[in-house]
Amino acid sequence: MCRIFLWLALCLLLGAGRLPAAVINGHGYVPVADWATANGLKVVRGGQGKQITVTNRVLRAVFEVNSQEAKINGVAVRLLFPVAADRNVPLISQLDCDKTLRPILYPPRQPAGQHLTTICLDPGHGGKDTGNRVGAYNEKTYTLALAQELHDQLVKAGFKVILTRTTDEYVDLPLRPALANRKGADLFVSLHFNATEDGKTEVQGPETYCITPVGASSSNAQGDGANYGPTTANHFDQQSMLLAYQTQKSLVHNLGATDRGVRRARFAVLRDAAMPAILIEGGYMTHPVEGKRIFDAGYRRLMARAIVQGILAYKSAVQPPAPAPAPVRMPGPTKPGHHP
Ligand SMILES: [Zn+2]
Repeated sequence: MCRIFLWLALCLLLGAGRLPAAVINGHGYVPVADWATANGLKVVRGGQGKQITVTNRVLRAVFEVNSQEAKINGVAVRLLFPVAADRNVPLISQLDCDKTLRPILYPPRQPAGQHLTTICLDPGHGGKDTGNRVGAYNEKTYTLALAQELHDQLVKAGFKVILTRTTDEYVDLPLRPALANRKGADLFVSLHFNATEDGKTEVQGPETYCITPVGASSSNAQGDGANYGPTTANHFDQQSMLLAYQTQKSLVHNLGATDRGVRRARFAVLRDAAMPAILIEGGYMTHPVEGKRIFDAGYRRLMARAIVQGILAYKSAVQPPAPAPAPVRMPGPTKPGHHP
């Protein structure tokens, strides 16, 4: 009797069937099943228990134990911390629940009356800073060409667009987000093309970066794990995650490109932007096929179209169409000479 009472008390304390959260390497973790249940998602285990799929009407996320690689609605997303397991119970970091999954499951809404109208495009490098170089091809040339194409397509889609540079000139990194901040841009999109550092030619595919949340390490090649402090951009890290996800999804689907995933970095241009901000690495100049595509205006047009679609998907998620206005009551018959 007493034992049953104790058991009931414990169940009430922890929530029936709920396992307490764990701390792994100093980071808070929760059971994937608890997070899924709390958010109305079903959990399916596969791959001899190593693979966990959570699904509902709008989300299908696939995780693997001991891995940071996740697929969210088919898009590769690098988690902040690996999925763990404690006595066969898969655990996910609380920071990933809050900063990676939540923005996709519950898109943050634009404040009422605040419309998404102005986009700042940032063509990477310029002037003395060539960016990556592959043979005679300089990254700075193609980031500007893509920005100009994207400018035209965004204007056609009804956006106001500003560019951090319009010619082959050198612009200091801090001046780029500073311009976006001064002009009151609603989004900041930095454009780059990648290259392998060791000259390897097999790596290909776009990557989309957004700011690393406070308390996590970045997933860019260099990493910057020591920098745990908050930055201006962390005020918008939910929005930036959603924008990065929608853009990467559109790039991969529309270009049929290899999916290198949504990643995190504290790049200077992302850190200081006072608005949702992403950095797109549109592909690898060092890949023999993708490189040729990047240097081709037709492919860049398709890439620009994919980015516009990503931005529009983000916009409709954060700024759903206004509800239909209440029916206007027709004025009743008025007496002659009466002026309401
Ligand atoms: Zn670059």
